[in-house]
Amino acid sequence: MARKVDKNVDAIATNLARRGFVLDTARLAVIEERRKATQVEADLVRWYDMEADDEGAMRPGGFEVSFGPTRASAGPRDACSRDEALDLRAGGRTFAFQGRIDRIDWDDARSSFRVIDYKTGSAYGGKYLVFDGGRALQLPIYLLAAARALGIAPERGVSEYFFVSTKGNFKRKPISGQQLDDLHQDFETVIETIAGGVEIGMFAPSPDQQTCRYCDYQDVCDVRKERIMSRKRADPRGSSFRAMREIP
Ligand code: SF4
Repeated sequence: MARKVDKNVDAIATNLARRGFVLDTARLAVIEERRKATQVEADLVRWYDMEADDEGAMRPGGFEVSFGPTRASAGPRDACSRDEALDLRAGGRTFAFQGRIDRIDWDDARSSFRVIDYKTGSAYGGKYLVFDGGRALQLPIYLLAAARALGIAPERGVSEYFFVSTKGNFKRKPISGQQLDDLHQDFETVIETIAGGVEIGMFAPSPDQQTCRYCDYQDVCDVRKERIMSRKRADPRGSSFRAMREIP
């Protein structure tokens, strides 16, 4: 499909050149915009086909399912949505989470479920890490919130990213409720470290190229962050944070 799209762009460019148009920057920009629109259209068709071919026992049941307080202007809510936050216990304390799940599927017998979070960007390569040093909490939290909303045990569910674009290679990256149960000690450590840090106002910067590139706070983040972090490598106040970064 991508090759067909590229061919279309080539065809447009050749046709314009034949008709005497000079392909200046502005015209190339228009072609590029059209290429992107065509790519989005091609991705949509492929995504639709994949959904139509998905013949599992589960059916889509909930969309934009929220948990925890939402803004009054948020519009109509899915029947599975709940006002109560997801309360999780870690280190003897309770932490409340809120969020909005793209889609939840379940089977007719309500014996299993699947959470889907759609992504339009690139799928990261390499081994998939469940908690990724505390960077990946969305799927575990969504899985638990969906289990509670449906009244199905978390071990009967999966929670996955679905990269619905050519850029993301239409990959699915799932974690299972069983995996989460097996790793519940790591999960508790991650929650306790992050939420406990927020509670006491301890925000350790953790620069890495990929995360900083898309960070909304680049403008206010200290430009010397790498140097500061390397200087504080042995600071005992950051020991639990550094230990969390080692959790896969
Ligand atoms: S720019 Fe600063 S705040 Fe943002 S991810 Fe990087 S280190 Fe963290």
